[in-house]
Amino acid sequence: MVKVAKDTVARVHYTGTFPDNGQEFDTSRNGEPLTFLVGHKGMIPGFERELMGASTGDSRSFTLEPEDAYGHPSDALIQEVPRQMFPEDMPIDLGMMLMSDAGPLRIVAITDETVRCDFNNPMAGKTLHFEVEVVEVRAATANELAHGHVHGPGGVEHETQKSSDDNTDCLPDKSCCGG
Ligand code: ZN
Repeated sequence: MVKVAKDTVARVHYTGTFPDNGQEFDTSRNGEPLTFLVGHKGMIPGFERELMGASTGDSRSFTLEPEDAYGHPSDALIQEVPRQMFPEDMPIDLGMMLMSDAGPLRIVAITDETVRCDFNNPMAGKTLHFEVEVVEVRAATANELAHGHVHGPGGVEHETQKSSDDNTDCLPDKSCCGG
C-alpha cells in the first residue's frame, strides 16, 4: 500500500481549528477532498510532515506552531501606500481585504494621505490544529512531477492532457506550471 511520502499524490479531508478557542477556520468536509502533490511546497510544511507515512484510511490529529504553518507576521510586509493610488470612487474601510498585483492585502490604517496595507497572510502568527483523514494516496505520474502539480480530479485539468503524455502540452495560457 502506498504511504504518504515525497512524490506521492495525497487526497485528504481535513478540518482546521484554532486551538485556543476551538473555532473552525476551514474544512474540506462540505466538498471535495484536498488533493496535493507531496514534497513540492504546495502545502504548509508542518501539514505534510505530520502526514508522512500515513496510508489510505488513516487519520491524523496535530497542532502546528506558526513556524510550521504560515510563519510569523513581518513588519516589512506592512506598507504605507499613497491615498491617490486607490481610485477615488473606491470605498476603503479599516479591516477590508483587497486583491493587488502584490497579492492579497488588509487595510489596517487610513489617513488623508496614506493607506496602511498589511500584506501578511491573515493566518501568519497563528497556531493551528488539524484533524485529517487520508482518503487516497497514490504515486505521482512522471508528468505530474515534471509539472509540479496534480493532474485530474482535484488538480489541474489540461485540455490536451488526455491526448498525449508529452510535457509540452502545457501551454502558457493554461494557467499551469506556476504560470
Ligand atoms: Zn500540468
